[in-house]
Amino acid sequence: MTKPRIGVIGVGSMGSMVLWQLAKAGVEAVGFEQFGIGHDRSAAGGESRMFRTAYMEGADYVPLLKASRKLWEELGEETGLELLTLCGGLMIGPRDHPRIANVIRSVREFAIDHEILEAEETMRRYPQHRLGEGEIAVLDREAGFMRPELAVFAAAERAETLGAVIHRHTEVEAIEETAAGVRVSAGGRSHEFDRVIVTAGPWTARFFPALEENLVPRKIVMTWYLSSEPARFASESFPVFGRVGGPIDIFGVPALEGTMTKIGSVDTFGDVPDPGALHRDVELAELRHINGEVERCMNGLRPDPARISVHMDGYTTDEHAVVGAVPGSERLFVMGGYSGHGFKLAPVMGEIGKDLVLTGSTAHGIDHLAPGRYLS
Ligand SMILES: Cc1cc2nc3c(=O)[nH]c(=O)nc-3n(C[C@H](O)[C@H](O)[C@H](O)COP(=O)(O)OP(=O)(O)OC[C@H]3O[C@@H](n4cnc5c(N)ncnc54)[C@H](O)[C@@H]3O)c2cc1C
Repeated sequence: MTKPRIGVIGVGSMGSMVLWQLAKAGVEAVGFEQFGIGHDRSAAGGESRMFRTAYMEGADYVPLLKASRKLWEELGEETGLELLTLCGGLMIGPRDHPRIANVIRSVREFAIDHEILEAEETMRRYPQHRLGEGEIAVLDREAGFMRPELAVFAAAERAETLGAVIHRHTEVEAIEETAAGVRVSAGGRSHEFDRVIVTAGPWTARFFPALEENLVPRKIVMTWYLSSEPARFASESFPVFGRVGGPIDIFGVPALEGTMTKIGSVDTFGDVPDPGALHRDVELAELRHINGEVERCMNGLRPDPARISVHMDGYTTDEHAVVGAVPGSERLFVMGGYSGHGFKLAPVMGEIGKDLVLTGSTAHGIDHLAPGRYLS
């Protein structure tokens, strides 16, 4: 049996991993990326991403995260690059908060190496944090951070080394199913494939107008803060963290370049009507909430950001991604709408994408991501 020729639309977080997996399987795979590889104009920029296995978004994700972690390590070994660093993670919030309940369920059900810390004990071990009455922290020893730009670059380079072709700075204008396959129009040329997977992030609905209502690009702003004692925020003594139950939910990543600590808001900064025209300026007033939380919950950071960067992600109505065959088609697949929490899953999504385009199914549990929720 001859192996199919596969097209991958968008070589960002997911597309680069799908190409890596397809190339590893010896399949003829061609990727199209409208910008350069590892660019920061979509969902993959901003220096770091948190990796957590004790999952606030629900225990359904834990088997996927465990599989993803193995693949992060595999890609790191294949490329000789440190893509995932496990420095531990604190999930902080009121003991009875539903997201903290999800974390505790995840760590217990899936035997994740953890500790549950009362407020006093958390502040004794991690004096960078201030906790209130009734708040606890779950220390997830299998958490850490990833390097997003480097990871996309590593997966894409590895895919090319293994035989994949990537058309950089080449925008896909249209995808059309034909009697024999799928035609992709890109950069003024037409390309024929047996099957195509769309991994276009915030641009996904451009190719599936029926998704427009339920998959929307949203702006995300990252902020970094200075300290007079930056060493206190190094990864050896300051694990990544997520914090719920305050005026806004926040997260943080250690000072990776040795000077600034990233503390971000989980809330988005509104819908982006046209992802091609993302407005990358930020007004001081928009930072009021995040600065307020840095002042309220952290010790040792000046609550006025020294560095700001603006990105976006595709958000679905239920904040779970859309992954699978497009209903009614055996040739067209979609993988998008990761709703601000997809990066840690990227390698396992690469494997899932490869399984789907080659066999139509996957052994990984992805029923909660079925495209039929929104596409009929
Ligand atoms: C600032 C920020 C912080 C985040 N923090 C975390 C975190 O801590 N942990 C975590 O797990 N997740 C996090 N996320 C979420 C995660 O980064 C995203 O869910 C994930 O990167 C989405 O990947 P994607 O492949 O769908 O999109 P992208 O990585 O954006 O890839 C889509 C690609 O398709 C390309 N493309 C689109 N249209 C076309 C076209 N017509 N032709 C050619 N190319 C096209 C785009 O240029 C882009 O490169 C964060 C997201 C953001 C923005």
